Amino acid sequence: MDCLFCKIAAGEIPSTKVYEDDKLLAFKDINPQAPVHILIIPKEHFDSVDALDEKSAPIVGDIMLVAKKIAAEQGLKDGYRIITNIGENGGQTVKHLHFHILGGVKLSEKMC
Ligand code: 5GP
Ligand code: ZN
Repeated sequence: MDCLFCKIAAGEIPSTKVYEDDKLLAFKDINPQAPVHILIIPKEHFDSVDALDEKSAPIVGDIMLVAKKIAAEQGLKDGYRIITNIGENGGQTVKHLHFHILGGVKLSEKMC
């Protein structure tokens, strides 16, 4: 499949990794929108949350636990934000499920 994040997961496109296990990869966003901006992806391809089902959805719990661990490692003790964009109106530009971790600054109270 011609998918940017599948290629990053496979190591075909380089990334600055901050976490990896058998199911998940986390790496720095190429265009950071906060002092800390990290993406967490499942290595298995899903288009977005919309593509999850009862069998695959537990991966989101795994991602949340890794997000928490990364946030602690990055020193985000005063808080941070986790975002996943879905589809055109959600502003999703890469069609491989991913969660943004944003922090290191007081984030906007606006969510949209
Ligand atoms: P989305 O808009 O789909 O929620 O988020 C996609 C994110 O992927 C964007 O924040 C964008 O900066 C990031 N991104 C796009 N291409 C690359 C890349 O080649 N490497 C990395 N590390 N991040 C990328
Ligand atoms: Zn993919």
